Amino acid sequence: ISAKNQITERVLQEILQQNKQYASQGKVADYIPELGKMEPDAVALSVVDTNGKVINVGDVSKKFTIQSISKIVALMVAVREKGEAAVFENMGYYGSDKPFNHFGNLEITGKPLNPMMNAGAILTTSMIEGDGEIPFQKILKMIRYITNNNTIDYSKTVYLSEKETGHRNRGMFYLMKNNGLINGTEDQLDNYFKQCSIEVTAEDLAKIGYFFANECVRFDGDATYKSTDLSKLIQSQMLIAGMYEFSGEYARRIGLPSKSGVGGGIAVCVPGKMGIGVFSAPLDTHGNSVAGYQMILDLATQFGLNVFLP
Ligand code: GLU
Repeated sequence: ISAKNQITERVLQEILQQNKQYASQGKVADYIPELGKMEPDAVALSVVDTNGKVINVGDVSKKFTIQSISKIVALMVAVREKGEAAVFENMGYYGSDKPFNHFGNLEITGKPLNPMMNAGAILTTSMIEGDGEIPFQKILKMIRYITNNNTIDYSKTVYLSEKETGHRNRGMFYLMKNNGLINGTEDQLDNYFKQCSIEVTAEDLAKIGYFFANECVRFDGDATYKSTDLSKLIQSQMLIAGMYEFSGEYARRIGLPSKSGVGGGIAVCVPGKMGIGVFSAPLDTHGNSVAGYQMILDLATQFGLNVFLP
């Protein structure tokens, strides 16, 4: 990024104004009843630049649930505790043409495809040590650390809404129990529902993106968890499976490791450089924020962020 090509608040404001109209092409997720109440018009864009500086535009104080984006932090916590080999012993590194809540390979090989789809994410969280709510608390603590934001918490109403209606997730949990992959109680599934219900802003997501883009060093330079290897693992999973079954096409169009959630957020890594966070609740048929995708596309194109560029 050359000096004359600086990412400024003005540039981000332009990108937001040009793309917020795309929200009308999407639909707010309502398979989790509480999510259906989200405001369709709120749009936010946040960048943590190469110097760790935060630039925010739009509805930046708007909170939404992190949903699937929590899976990358849960994977980090599990791998730090158990090591990569143990975490992936019963799970693949595969991409998928199936939606996020698909049973994938569970009926065939007995093992989830990857830790980004629900089955693998539920398994990942079940591997984090501790009884009851402890594994969830570890994920929450890590998200608070990465964002340096101790006010972050989960939404009890969204959590209860997911718990009440998450029958597919419960089905996967019990199939994995049947296959001998999970030994614990339903508390472990609850931890997954709780992690998905953590409320964040676009700025928090930009900081998460920055962290995994920069060897797990925080935006303010804190290097407590520095790990080149872990950031490579997480970004590779984001690239191949972070945008659900759209991941391949997303890699072609944008070329950046990204993770979306059905709450309308997307966290983006610009490897070795920046983090981007977007929010707009209406989703496309794959479960990705429509206006969010368009803003990232514009930003990546204008600033040549695609990792496959020379
Ligand atoms: N809590 C959501 C679910 O399990 C997460 C899905 C997502 O964001 O992709 O259905």
